[in-house]
Amino acid sequence: MRAPCYVRDLAELEHVSRRAKGWECPHCRRHGNLNRHGALRGLSETGEGKDSVRGWRFLCSDRGRRGGCGRSFSVLLSTVIAGATVRSPELWRFTLAKLGGASVLLAWERLRSRFSLEAAYSWWKRWERGQFGVRAVLARGRGPPRGELARQLVAAFGGEDPVGSFQLMEQRRWPG
Ligand SMILES: [Zn+2]
Repeated sequence: MRAPCYVRDLAELEHVSRRAKGWECPHCRRHGNLNRHGALRGLSETGEGKDSVRGWRFLCSDRGRRGGCGRSFSVLLSTVIAGATVRSPELWRFTLAKLGGASVLLAWERLRSRFSLEAAYSWWKRWERGQFGVRAVLARGRGPPRGELARQLVAAFGGEDPVGSFQLMEQRRWPG
C-alpha cells in the first residue's frame, strides 16, 4: 500500500499512521520499515500560538533486518500548502477575491489576513504558476475544462475548501 501524501485532519493522521508498517516507502519501495518520526510544525492557522502541527514525518528505518533506505517523507494535513504558512481555506478566499477583479492589495485587505502583503503577492504568483497544473488534473479523463478555472474547481472539489480537497482527493500537492 502506498503511503498517503495528505490526510483530512489529525485524527485521520493518527488513524492511518497505525498502518505505516504496511506502507511502501516512496523512496525505496520497500515495506515494513516505516516509523513515525516526529511532527512537522509551523505557524498556526489562527495566529494563536506559534506552533501548529502541519503533518508527520515518517522514517524508513535502515536498522531493521531487511533494512530501509534511511530516508524520510511527510504526510501532511490537506489544508497545508507546501512551502507556505497560509492554509488552503484562506488561500482560496484570497484567490477568489483576486479573480473577482480585486487587486492583490484589496484582496489582501478584505481578508484581514495576519500575513504580510508580500505573502499575498506570492500567493497570487503561486496561482499564476499553478493554474496549468490544476487544469491538467481537472482535464484528466474528462477533456479540457471549459470556462473559468475557479468554477471548475468548485464543481470538482466543493466550494468550502477546494484547494484542500484537491490535495486530499488527488493525493498531490496544490500546483504552483
Ligand atoms: Zn525507504
